[in-house]
Amino acid sequence: MITLSPDVQNVIDEILPGEQDKFLGCLDVRVKTKLRLSPIKMDPEKTLRSLTEEGMTPVKIPYLPDTYSVEPETSYPGRTLVHNLGYFYLQDLSSMIPALVLDPQPGERILDLAAAPGSKTTQIAQMMKNTGTLVANDVDSGRLSNLSFNLDRMGIYNTVVTHLEGALVGKRFPEYFDRVLLDAPCSALGVLANKQDVLNWWAQSKVSKFATLQEKLLISAIKALKPGGRLVYSTCTLTPEENELTVQSILAKYPVELENIPVINGFTMRSGLTSRGISSEVSEKVRRIYPFDNNNNLQGFFVACFKKTGTTQNEDFAVLSLPTIQTGVRNEAVLFGRMSAYFGIEPHLLEGLKLINRKDLWVVPNDFDVRWAGTSIRTGMRFAREMYDDAFKLTTDVLQLYGRHISEHKITIENPQEMDQFQSGSNIHSEKELRGQQAVFWGDFCLGSGLGMGRTIKSQIPRSKRMGSDSEI
Ligand code: SAM
Repeated sequence: MITLSPDVQNVIDEILPGEQDKFLGCLDVRVKTKLRLSPIKMDPEKTLRSLTEEGMTPVKIPYLPDTYSVEPETSYPGRTLVHNLGYFYLQDLSSMIPALVLDPQPGERILDLAAAPGSKTTQIAQMMKNTGTLVANDVDSGRLSNLSFNLDRMGIYNTVVTHLEGALVGKRFPEYFDRVLLDAPCSALGVLANKQDVLNWWAQSKVSKFATLQEKLLISAIKALKPGGRLVYSTCTLTPEENELTVQSILAKYPVELENIPVINGFTMRSGLTSRGISSEVSEKVRRIYPFDNNNNLQGFFVACFKKTGTTQNEDFAVLSLPTIQTGVRNEAVLFGRMSAYFGIEPHLLEGLKLINRKDLWVVPNDFDVRWAGTSIRTGMRFAREMYDDAFKLTTDVLQLYGRHISEHKITIENPQEMDQFQSGSNIHSEKELRGQQAVFWGDFCLGSGLGMGRTIKSQIPRSKRMGSDSEI
């Protein structure tokens, strides 16, 4: 059994009097992440069938949309081709709750203020059906690379990635967003079962630093939100300072009120703490989630949901700082027409898309606010890399996204060794003479771009997308 440091033991004694043993007991059980299936690139039934063919048994988590555990416990769904191709995301069950409470809608403008590596961003984008404008921000550039990787992998093109200090976002983009998620940096006591290294750095002195940062980020989130909009605040920690007390402090100073967290079937959630002068309003509306209340099937979590009741615009005379820049693509209709004709994709399937020009061509949904292109480190999905006199080559990301609809210039690998070769970036042999770009398939699954060079097909799978190159679980 794990021994807690005196600082951590004090927190547990305070928040779970009489239940300390239950808490300690759950630390010995590593929580398995679950699969959140995505329909963006592949019919979920085919993804499940592929996992079954690999000897795994997906078991539906009741009530939660598209969510499965995988048996046997020892299997590694993160090492499969269908994971590599972005047909599902591995995510803890608790971590799915904030986006469910946020309830993002297609076409909205949504901010994920501390987004990397993107578990919740990819979930939100999926719920928005890849429409509208989703801004995924983080201050940590290393973690932003993982976020970008995950957006590409999951076929998401309604998202811009920004690299801004979160506390400044509200001032720069006041009252722009319909909904905001702040999944805050925190002292991580809820995830101890899976990350015991937290105990190496955990100290009570860190808690007040996190609480100060969380309050700054919350203020920024409120300023960025339109009046009437929804803000979800979540942490994966258990201290009152980072949870109920932060919420209470914000309620006293800003035009927000707490909303009820809807019952999410299948989860046991508790009300908030009532000690330390925490009001009944706060404790009744916020929710705590403990592993031991949920068969140790998830990690510890806290969630609160606010509605903004008035404006914050008079503060600091904030002005929207989205630059107007030239992003339009003159021959957009021609390019989509060529893509449709060359790959046999029904033209109407490309109708919801728009192209923007930022060195390469990038694709975003029609209702996307293109002004973000001037502020972001990436906007939407890279559409084509090379342009010579209107000729272009689609990226592997776009081919994977439209794989299901491709019927021309399509070749299917039959032999597993060749599949591995192609996936690892090596050339493969073709029976037929082929010239120009080809969409290369393994069964129903589009692997990406190949270049026909006579009887040889050159793999154009980017290094980062080859099997085994990501941090697969
Ligand atoms: N929402 C993410 C997900 O679901 O994958 C996890 C977010 S993690 C709990 C908190 C994030 O806050 C970290 O990625 C960290 O880099 C970021 N962060 C810390 N300080 C920040 C700040 N001042 N502004 C913006 N992001 C910050």
